[in-house]
Amino acid sequence: MDKTALGKIRLFLFDLDGTLYLGSRLFPFTRPLLSRLRETGRDYRFLTNNSSRSVADYVAKLRRLGIPAAPEDFVTSAQATVQYLRETLPGAPLYVCGTASLKAELSGAGFPVTEDPDAAAGIVMGYDTELTYQKLWDVSRLLTQRPDIPYIATNPDLVCPTEFGFVPDCGSVCAMLQTATGRRPLVIGKPEPRMPRLAISRCGVPPERCAVVGDRIYTDIKCGQNAGIPGILVLSGETTPEILAASPDKPDLVLRDAGEILVALEA
Ligand SMILES: [Mg+2]
Repeated sequence: MDKTALGKIRLFLFDLDGTLYLGSRLFPFTRPLLSRLRETGRDYRFLTNNSSRSVADYVAKLRRLGIPAAPEDFVTSAQATVQYLRETLPGAPLYVCGTASLKAELSGAGFPVTEDPDAAAGIVMGYDTELTYQKLWDVSRLLTQRPDIPYIATNPDLVCPTEFGFVPDCGSVCAMLQTATGRRPLVIGKPEPRMPRLAISRCGVPPERCAVVGDRIYTDIKCGQNAGIPGILVLSGETTPEILAASPDKPDLVLRDAGEILVALEA
């Protein structure tokens, strides 16, 4: 894919941090790019793996940064998890190692959330900023005593960026539980294809007219490729030219930042 092909894309699936902003700093091209896309009959969605916060939290965060955002602009790993659970465990009571916000989203979607491990028919792991040792104990016991219990993780990220560096995300807690119990969860979020596929089905755009845009090869670019749609890497976040050169997975297109999409559309 080269830059001239950007004009054919009807639906852009954007990662957030590192792609449209960095921490609390909005990139100068973000607002003009998003409005240009909709003005020209194109569309976009925001794809986030972070399951610790609700869509309402994200709408508020983006509006604070100056991005006009509505709940329907988002596809989250929690929403994709709900979709998966509806297909495989409809209405099942769940033990959730996640935030109050994730629990509310799951119970609001028709899955009773139980604090009693013995009442659970499935386990959901999220990015749990409210993690306690009791939850680790309960999940370890369930995974050991009930080898067939469905065990699902919203996202595989090992770390989440902060202003000082990194803190453990869902993937690190799952790795700890794997060390203890030998079990690995089924993963829903990026790099699995479920989130881009959910966005595509909601928007009704053919996959060849879609692209994922993100700053991480092993989550953003991979999820596009796993869903059969092009992955556009931006070098405005986590990936350096050295990381790109060393990666076995190559993006379909590499841009300095997402502002280059705006330039290409106006050319
Ligand atoms: Mg990112």
